[in-house]
Amino acid sequence: MQITSKLGHNFSITCLSSYSKYSILFIGPEHLLGYDPMTYGTPLPLLQIPQQAIKDVSSKLMEPKATIGQYTQDCKSISSLKSLVSNVDYNLAREATVDVGYICKKCQMVYPAKDACISHQRLMCFPGGKIPDGVNITLKLEQIQYECKLCAEKVSTVQEFKSHCETEAHKTKLAVYQQQRHSGATTPRTVVSSPAVNSGAHQADHEHMQDA
Ligand SMILES: [Zn+2]
Ligand SMILES: [Zn+2]
Repeated sequence: MQITSKLGHNFSITCLSSYSKYSILFIGPEHLLGYDPMTYGTPLPLLQIPQQAIKDVSSKLMEPKATIGQYTQDCKSISSLKSLVSNVDYNLAREATVDVGYICKKCQMVYPAKDACISHQRLMCFPGGKIPDGVNITLKLEQIQYECKLCAEKVSTVQEFKSHCETEAHKTKLAVYQQQRHSGATTPRTVVSSPAVNSGAHQADHEHMQDA
């Protein structure tokens, strides 16, 4: 069914001017079926992400080799946490990435699923799979979140991370964690006098010298 319609298109394209050929590409099955964002995508400017993130991602789309575009909901980075939370809490923070979608670099449509993006490209933007050499035609869009390693909780902004660190749940976990670390650090000292541990330490020194 699809092959027949493709052949039909090819046939009419050869008979028409380039202007008509252009409009034929936009009367594809995508526009005949009902709108379904899961399959048919959202234009990048309409995505519910910060304007600054849209700007950054747009410029990333211009880089032929780029494969990943990342943003944070607050346009800040993990280093912004340094001045907001204690050193201990800062060391518990790490970046976690969330897949947002796949963008066709040619038309800047964002698809939640990679497959949908690829079939769109085959049909619309790169018909016949003609891809310029050395160009990545898809950009994966990722949101970076701030994760508390201790609680395995992810939030979208540095302010939310700060609030998280002020919760009783986090504080309680931190107290237990620090107590465990403290007792964990003193435990080996009580066994250090045993010969087995000493020889183990020598061996470790030896390995270290071999590495160097
Ligand atoms: Zn496209
Ligand atoms: Zn936490």
